[in-house]
Amino acid sequence: MREIQKDISLRQLTTFKIGGPARYFTEAQSFAEIEQAWQFAREHRLNTLILGGGSNMLVSDAGFDGLVIKINLTGMTIQAEDEQTILLNAAAGECWDDVTARCVESGWWGIENLSLIPGSAGALAVQNVGAYGQEASEVIESLDVCDLADGRRFQMTTQQCGFGYRVSMFNTTCPGRYLILSVTLRLKKRGEANLSYRDLAAYFEGKKSPTLTDIREAVIAIRNAKLPDPAIIGNAGSFFKNLTLDLAAFQRMLAHVRRQRGNETAAVIETRCRISGNQVKVPTALLLDVCGLKGLKIGGAALYDKHPLILINATGNATADEVMSLMKTVRQTVYAHTGLEIMPEPNFIGFTQEELECYFAL
Ligand SMILES: Cc1cc2nc3c(=O)[nH]c(=O)nc-3n(C[C@H](O)[C@H](O)[C@H](O)COP(=O)(O)OP(=O)(O)OC[C@H]3O[C@@H](n4cnc5c(N)ncnc54)[C@H](O)[C@@H]3O)c2cc1C
Repeated sequence: MREIQKDISLRQLTTFKIGGPARYFTEAQSFAEIEQAWQFAREHRLNTLILGGGSNMLVSDAGFDGLVIKINLTGMTIQAEDEQTILLNAAAGECWDDVTARCVESGWWGIENLSLIPGSAGALAVQNVGAYGQEASEVIESLDVCDLADGRRFQMTTQQCGFGYRVSMFNTTCPGRYLILSVTLRLKKRGEANLSYRDLAAYFEGKKSPTLTDIREAVIAIRNAKLPDPAIIGNAGSFFKNLTLDLAAFQRMLAHVRRQRGNETAAVIETRCRISGNQVKVPTALLLDVCGLKGLKIGGAALYDKHPLILINATGNATADEVMSLMKTVRQTVYAHTGLEIMPEPNFIGFTQEELECYFAL
């Protein structure tokens, strides 16, 4: 059995570079090691935390009072193929960007716009990862999972996952219950560039149809220009989700903004939101901007100047409490000025219910 270590700092195991220790910690390179870790947690009545690349979580300063299982399962195998499609299985511990690189090199379409997203293949389904017009749920064929309630291993279909915008059953109705062992992707051997996202369309304006490699390079260039490199500045990507409102809610929000911030601000929001039928996409970065939140800092935590949706560990020594206090101020300010409640993307680890209620109070 792989060693179960005690009091291991989680700080360096997350891209935020924040957080206290795990009471117990182990790494699993095989299903047998996962079973052993699961058995240990049951015997000692411990909560478990499944850890991939740590790029979508904020660990509390107190750390995690349970067993952290870092998933290191590796391997990519072709499960089936025909003239049009290929089913590629990636083990949960594979680096997601290695999977995208392999698919692009092999000429398989479907995940090229998801290039350079940090983290593991296993976490792909958890928040239905998406970027630049593509979403994980469009290519996930099935998942090999282990139910941590009883240790049972089975195949889960896409339909069972409850996918939506940045959500699945894994981060809503059943958080922490299923350990994803591998993901099978359905990719196309012939495809067309998805340039629905504005930045990508602008990148290729006036150029002939881009190849898979062109798209991957473009996505990497755009991301590198906009997003902080977690190896240099601690962060967990976008901290807040974008909003989609129905027209009535959108009009109510505009009326609220007119009262709080005046007609001019409401007009700015109205012109910059995309209306499609009864739905309006409201970029949360725009709300932060019109609420005057740009450049806000609390202790070592700050809004990233090039992309206000990203909260950063600006000093390298920020605490989880500072990040959460910053989140609270941002949410309260946006709520006061627009009447909208914006929601965070990362998973909050090791906070008590009372602490979370306080940080989420509006
Ligand atoms: C710079 C930067 C840019 C980013 N850009 C994007 C983006 O464009 N789009 C996007 O969607 N996300 C983005 N993210 C967020 C993040 O990279 C993704 O959500 C990623 O899928 C998280 O993978 P991870 O392995 O690091 O997960 P972790 O942070 O380790 O875990 C996240 C959650 O998933 C659970 N989990 C992890 N592995 C498993 C498993 N095998 N089985 C079951 N549960 C598991 C964990 O318990 C936790 O609840 C970005 C993050 C950063 C730092």
